[in-house]
Amino acid sequence: MNNCLFCKIIAGDIPSTKVYEDEKVYAFRDINPQAPTHVLVIPKQHVTGMSGIDEADDATLAACLRACKKVAELEGLTENGFRVVSNCGDHACQSVHHLHFHVLGGHQLTENMA
Ligand code: 5GP
Ligand code: ZN
Repeated sequence: MNNCLFCKIIAGDIPSTKVYEDEKVYAFRDINPQAPTHVLVIPKQHVTGMSGIDEADDATLAACLRACKKVAELEGLTENGFRVVSNCGDHACQSVHHLHFHVLGGHQLTENMA
């Protein structure tokens, strides 16, 4: 966990552009955006990914989903729509092993999700 990139971002050891924060969640702009809005929502509690959510408090998991919606509102995405994605494991190309939700929007996203 000490070597986790996103834990370092939460701690402020690596700079990030904050979009939203509460007691359980931190949200910041992706360094390599795939859409006009591309925000990462992460729990402050270290959780390895979707396959590790049994380690996480229910309140933390709920806070992540609520934060995704909050980010969409803050970014003005709710009228036209947005997408929430969580990559898990090698086939999904997960590159950071701290649970995160990509919130994507701001233009027409493709139908193809796989
Ligand atoms: P994954 O590929 O694991 O689903 O998503 C990891 C995301 O983290 C990628 O979209 C990548 O661009 C983003 N990312 C990796 N390193 C950094 C960083 O240092 N800062 C920020 N803001 N995003 C990062
Ligand atoms: Zn972590």
